[in-house]
Amino acid sequence: MSDAELMETLVSLAKRRGFIFQSSEIYGGTGSVWDYGPLGVELKRRIKEMWWRSMVDERDDIEGLDAAILMHPRVWEASGHVEEFTDPLVECRNCHRRFREDTLRAEVGAQEMSVVQCPKCGKTGEWTEPRQFNLMFKSHMGPVEAEGSVVYLRPETAQGIFVNFLNVQTAARQKVPFGIAQIGKAFRNEITPGHFTFRTREFEQMEMQFFVEPGTDDEWFERWKERRMEWTRSLGLAEDRLRFVEHGPDELAHYAKSAVDIEFRFGGTIGGDGWGEVEGVHNRTDFDLRRHQEYSGKRLEYIDPAAGKRFLPYIIETSVGADRLALAVLAGAYREEEIEGDTRVVLGLAPSLAPLKAGVFPLVKKDGMPERARAIHDGLRQRGLQSFYDESGAIGRRYRRQDEAGTPFCITVDGETLSDGTVTVRHRDSMEQERVSEDRIAEYLEERLG
Ligand code: ATP
Repeated sequence: MSDAELMETLVSLAKRRGFIFQSSEIYGGTGSVWDYGPLGVELKRRIKEMWWRSMVDERDDIEGLDAAILMHPRVWEASGHVEEFTDPLVECRNCHRRFREDTLRAEVGAQEMSVVQCPKCGKTGEWTEPRQFNLMFKSHMGPVEAEGSVVYLRPETAQGIFVNFLNVQTAARQKVPFGIAQIGKAFRNEITPGHFTFRTREFEQMEMQFFVEPGTDDEWFERWKERRMEWTRSLGLAEDRLRFVEHGPDELAHYAKSAVDIEFRFGGTIGGDGWGEVEGVHNRTDFDLRRHQEYSGKRLEYIDPAAGKRFLPYIIETSVGADRLALAVLAGAYREEEIEGDTRVVLGLAPSLAPLKAGVFPLVKKDGMPERARAIHDGLRQRGLQSFYDESGAIGRRYRRQDEAGTPFCITVDGETLSDGTVTVRHRDSMEQERVSEDRIAEYLEERLG
C-alpha cells in the first residue's frame, strides 16, 4: 500500500473499529473536527497518561496545572496572537505557513501571488486566497455582545502556564529551574486543516514550560530536545520514521531564540514529503514573561534570595499535540500481512498503549465455555485490564477483529480448559499460541504489559 493510501485506510479502520468518528457525522460532519470512539478515547488517554507520568509524576522539578480555556483578552494581546492574526493572510497550501500577503508581494515586487515563492518551503504560487484572518475563535462573555466582552478560545495552552508562573512557583515552593506542565484543549480556526486528525480546528496539546536562568537556556534546550525524542520513541514509533528539524534563523517565530521540531514520517502528502511535525521544542527566551509583565503591570521576576538574584526566567517549551501523536501511533502501528492468500490487518500498538489488553472467547457457545470465559473476562476487568468478551463468529474472525483493534493477547476457553484448567493465549504479532493456567491469566498479562 502506498503512503497516500495509508491515511484513507486509517480513516476507515478508525471508524470501523471505533477509534475516531467525524464530528456530527449524521449532519454531514463539521469541518475538521473529530470525535474519539471507545477505542480512540482509550488510546489517547494512555498517551496523555504516559506523557503526564514522564513529565510530572516522575519528576520533582515539574508541577502540573489545569488552566481554564477562557482567559482575559489582554493575554492574547500580550502573546501577540491578536495582532499577528488580524492581517490579510495567505497560507501556503504546501507547508501551511501563513504570511502577510502585502509583505510577501512587496518583498519580491510581485503584483500576483501566483509568482510568489513560499519563503518556508520554496513552492511557487500555492497560495490560499488572502483573508483578514484571525486564527482564534472569538466569542463574548456574558449576555451582551459588546466589544468589552470579547473572549477567545485559547489557540495554545501555554499562556495559562505563563500567567500562573509565580502562583505555581510560590505555592509549590519551586526554585528555578523548574517546569509547569499542562494537558488541554486548544482551538485554531485553521485555514487549511486536513489529513484526518493531523491538522484540526479543535485539538489537545500537552505542553511543558521549563523556567531557567538566562545563560543556562541553551543547555536546557539541548537537554529537553533529546529527552523529548527519547520519550517519543518509547511509544513504539520506529526510529527511521522520526527526525529532528531545526528552524533556520529566518524561520523562527517572533518569540524564539532556537526551535526544533520532532517530525514523524506519516507518509502521503503531509508536509509535502510525508514528514510532519508532532512536537516543537522552543527556546522562548524571556519574551512571554516580559510581555505579560508589561501588559499586566505585575512584576513576574523570580527572586532567588540565597543567591541574591532577581531575574525574568527564560523558557524552554516542549509542545506536542495529543491527537497528532495518536495519529502517528496509529500510522506507525498499521500493517497488512499476507497469510495463506488472505490479508491480515494488524495494529501493532505497544501493549502499554493498546486500548484493549485482551480479547476473551469461548471456543463454542456450549459445554459451560461461555461461563468460564465470562468469568475470566470479569476477573480481568476487576484488575483494571481492559478486556473484550466475544462469542460471535468463527474463532479466526474473532482473532482478526482484535488484531485490527491492536489487542495484544487473545484468550480462548476450549475443550482442554474443561479438563485441565488451562486456556489458549494467542499473541497478536507472532500469532503463536501457548497454554496458560486460567488462574494465572491476570498475572501473565500484567508481566507482559509492562
Ligand atoms: P503546524 O505548523 O503543523 O500547524 P505549529 O507549528 O503551528 O504546527 P505549534 O504551535 O508549535 O504547532 O503547536 C505544537 C503542537 O501542537 C504541534 O506540534 C502539533 O502536534 C499540535 N498542533 C498544532 N496545531 C494543530 C492542529 N491544528 N491540529 C492538531 N494538532 C495541532
